[in-house]
Parts: sequence; C-alpha cells; structure tokens
Amino acid sequence: MHQQKIDEDLRSIAKGNVLSDDWSKKIYSVDASEFEILPSTIIQVKDKEDISNICKYAYYNHLAITGRGAGTGLLGQSLSTGISLDFTKYMNKINELENDYVMVQPGIVKAVLDKELKKKGKFLPPDPASSNFCTIGGMIANNSSGIHALGYGNTIDFLDGIEIIYSNGFIEPLFKKSYSIHDSAKKESHSLRTNKINQLFKLFSSDILQYISLKFPKVTKNSCGYRIDTLIDNSKRYLPHKIFASSEGTLGITTLAKFRILDLPLYRSVMVIGFENILKAVKSVPTILSLFPTSLELLDHSVLCYEKIVRNKFNFKVNNNNNGGTLLFVEFAGDDVVTIELKIQLCKEKLHGYGEILEVTSDNVSCERIWAARKNALNNVMKLTVGSRKPISLIEDTIVNPEYLYDYTLFLLKIYKKYKLDYIFYGHAGNGNLHTRPVIDTASSIYKDLIASLATEVFSKVYELSGSITAEHGDGISRTKYIPQMYGNTIFEIFKNIKFIFDPTNIMNPGKKVIQ
Ligand SMILES: Cc1cc2nc3c(=O)[nH]c(=O)nc-3n(C[C@H](O)[C@H](O)[C@H](O)COP(=O)(O)OP(=O)(O)OC[C@H]3O[C@@H](n4cnc5c(N)ncnc54)[C@H](O)[C@@H]3O)c2cc1C
Repeated sequence: MHQQKIDEDLRSIAKGNVLSDDWSKKIYSVDASEFEILPSTIIQVKDKEDISNICKYAYYNHLAITGRGAGTGLLGQSLSTGISLDFTKYMNKINELENDYVMVQPGIVKAVLDKELKKKGKFLPPDPASSNFCTIGGMIANNSSGIHALGYGNTIDFLDGIEIIYSNGFIEPLFKKSYSIHDSAKKESHSLRTNKINQLFKLFSSDILQYISLKFPKVTKNSCGYRIDTLIDNSKRYLPHKIFASSEGTLGITTLAKFRILDLPLYRSVMVIGFENILKAVKSVPTILSLFPTSLELLDHSVLCYEKIVRNKFNFKVNNNNNGGTLLFVEFAGDDVVTIELKIQLCKEKLHGYGEILEVTSDNVSCERIWAARKNALNNVMKLTVGSRKPISLIEDTIVNPEYLYDYTLFLLKIYKKYKLDYIFYGHAGNGNLHTRPVIDTASSIYKDLIASLATEVFSKVYELSGSITAEHGDGISRTKYIPQMYGNTIFEIFKNIKFIFDPTNIMNPGKKVIQ
C-alpha cells in the first residue's frame, strides 16, 4: 500500500496527532544509540482505544508498530521503519496513587512520578540515570534499574500489573494477584482472543521450569531476552504480566502499569571513597557488600577527568597525574539512624589504609549533589567522542556475580591491553554490573571485526561466569543476535514460541529480541 494512503487512513482512524513530515521523522529516527532509522509515521496517541484501533489497522495491513518513550534507549530499541507510537504527549498521567501502589500511564517521565510520590513520602526505587527524561513505558520494556537497584530491585520486581494491547488490537488487563491454570482454561473456553495468557502458561512444564532455573544467569539484574524466570514465583503463583518487562515492546503495547511503592527511608548517608585504581576499588566491593548498602557505584578517572564541574563539586583534590584514580559511592539507608552510623563506621574501619574516605554526608543536598555527579557519567563518557572515534556500547552492560568482579575486571583490562584500546568504566559495582566502553575509530577498516572479536571474547567470559550480557540496558538492535548464545537452543525456542503467541505476524517492534 502507498505510504500516503496509509497516512490518510491513520489520520481518519487516530484521535491523536499523526505526523508524517520529514522533520518529525528525522527527530524520531534517533535514540541514545548509534543507529538512525526513519519511521514511516509517528502518532502521538490519545488513549488505549486509539492504540487499539491503530493496532487493528496495522495488523490487517501488516505494518510494524514500535512504542516510543523518551528515546533514551542505548541499543536502538525504539527505532523502526514502521509506525512509531509516542505516549509522552497525552498518555502521561498518574491514574491512582494509594498507600502501597501507583497506577500510571506509560508516557509519564520517571522524575515527574518521583516528585508526586515524594509528596506522599513514597518512592518507586528503580532510578535510571536518565530518570529526568525516561518514561515508565520505556523502563518496563527495558527492565531498567539504576543506582538503587542494589538495595531495592529492578523495574520487573515492582511491576504488579499491566494493561497490554496486542498486535490485533485486543486490550488485555492483567491486574490479578496471580492467575491459576483454572482461570486461564476458563478464559480459553470463553474467548479465543484471550487465550494468550493460557498458551504462555502451557510452555512451562515442571521440567522446563527446573531447566530455566539452572540456565538463567545467577545475578541480581538481567534484561537479556524474555524474563521467563519470573513468571512463576516460589509460591507457584503464575504472574503473566512479568513477561512484558524486558520485552522491548515486542509482545504488545503497555497502556497502564501498576507498581508497588515503598516508604522513603527516614535516613541515608553517602560515602565517597577514593582508590588508586579500578582494581583496588572493585576488590573492596565484597567487603562493602557485607554491610548491605542500598547503593554501591563506581566512577573511573576517565569519566571524572572529563567533567570539571564534578571535580569542583567534590570536596576533594583530584591529582591530575593520578590517571588511575577511581571512586566508589556507597549509600546506607533505612529508618534506624544508629544502624546507619554503625555501618558507616564499620565501612571506614574495613577500608582503613586501603581506600581514602573523601566525604561522608547525610544531608539531602549533599547526597543529591553526589548522585547527580554519578548520574552524569554517561554524558561525560559521550564527551570522549572525537569525530569517528567513539566509546562503543556493545559490551557496556555486562553483569557478573560481584564475587567475580575483581577477576572479571582484570580480564577486561587484559583484553583492552591486547587490542591496545582506550576505555572507560563506571556503573553499578555493587551488582557486578560495570558499564565499560572501548574507544574505537568507527571509520577504521578493522572496526567491525574488532568489535565482533571483543564481543565474542567478553560475552564468552560472561557466559562462563553465569552472568548476563545485559543487566539493565537491554538487547535492542545491537545485542539481539547474541541472545541465542546466551541462553542456548532450548530456551531460545521458548522465546520464539512466546513471540509467536503474542505477535504471530511479527509486527510489534520487529528485529528486537527474536528475529523471525
Ligand atoms: C544518559 C543515560 C543514562 C542512562 N542510565 C540508565 C541507568 O542508570 N539504568 C538503566 O537501566 N538505564 C539507563 N539508561 C537507558 C534508558 O534511559 C532506559 O532504558 C530507559 O528506561 C528508557 O526509557 P525511554 O522512555 O527513553 O524508552 P525508549 O528508549 O523510548 O524505548 C525503550 C523501549 O521501550 C519500548 N516502549 C516504550 N514505551 C512503550 C510502551 N508503552 N509499550 C511497549 N513498549 C514501549 C520501546 O519500543 C523500546 O523498545 C540510560 C540512558 C541514557 C541516555
């Protein structure tokens, strides 16, 4: 069908704004990755009926549909040649806010939600460094985490229900506490359209569940593939809504989400500890973890050196010759100030003579200043770009058990040395999730082979250590092809079946997670 006709049809169907001019397409053709893909049409959708009608039209005409939040995804997740649905203009409200949960539309920006929750003394812990921009829809789709995932968990852990629109336009609310097989069977007999949740359940025999628990990474965060390890919990409750977290919009469009929320802790203290080099810093991670911090983050010298404001903001001297310097930021939080002070004291004692305590603070302004500096890390990393020489993202989000972090960091440093590469490190050391990027000239003739060799070597090590190739940033265009290797054939076949159940004609964000 001709694109002009499609746009005319969409204008007559959609209640929201349909954009098909070159300027809009250009804006929506990029995210925070290196990719650039022009969408065919952009629709700033009004509500769920709007989305349902657009999906029905796309389904019958076999047109791709991709959700779009703030476009801060790092792997090209929100880019496609099809229809781009933008939720940020109209679908950005809090529908319900109660003592222990919040019900939100997908286009709400995380920081806006944080502000409203704070007024009630509450918070939703996952806090990506991009939280001033990123949306809840994007956080669900990528299973985002952030600085406080160590103490509290990831987006998937707080997702208690979801309303999803499938590729054929059917609206499925999934807000029950759990779904029994009986419920699903009953649904199947009542309506063929709603049997997807039942079909999903049938993929998981007890043998398969056992296999999944053996094969899935032994780490605290994981955004690789579909999170089938979360669908049936320890009490044998079936939680089908969890399949949509980390699915990158490949199974349906989120129109409403219910999250468990927590009381803000009464006290928190943040310590900044300086180390001579990254190896010394990561070696101290298990020691600090024994005190149960709510956050344990790392910034290496290359990230700090490129941000003068950070240097000035911090109350310590950075020796310009100390190229190897690395900082750890440690937060202890809770309702008992005595316990927090004790932990600070113990941490100081345990690190005495090994790391230099540069700052300990409990006042909110100082804590926010420190976390703002940490949240700026990726922006600083991007400043390393000079022409075609760039910090490359493919291996930037691996995670291993923190017990292996020292050996794994040593391994990464050896690889960088072998290929004579400059590099940066920052990120969630407490989870064993270091963000690292080699700086490579993308115009060089060896670029593609080099990045492929790096990925093969690094990802093989990650598999060997039962880690994941992506802890929180997701697969997107870049890492989808590595998913089969990460999980093996049996699990990848389950992923393919899941994709087929929810999106049989492959129109939902095609090319991500499972390539048909
Ligand atoms: C500077 C910077 C710092 C970052 N720091 C962190 C960090 O600390 N931790 C972390 O986890 N991530 C981080 N990220 C990555 C990114 O910000 C997160 O993954 C974020 O949650 C993406 O949200 P978004 O609204 O930008 O989504 P987008 O990039 O717009 O989309 C992401 C995915 O969500 C899908 N999607 C969006 N809305 C819907 C919907 N309603 N239904 C179905 N699918 C939908 C899209 O199709 C796409 O697949 C960072 C990124 C940047 C640029």
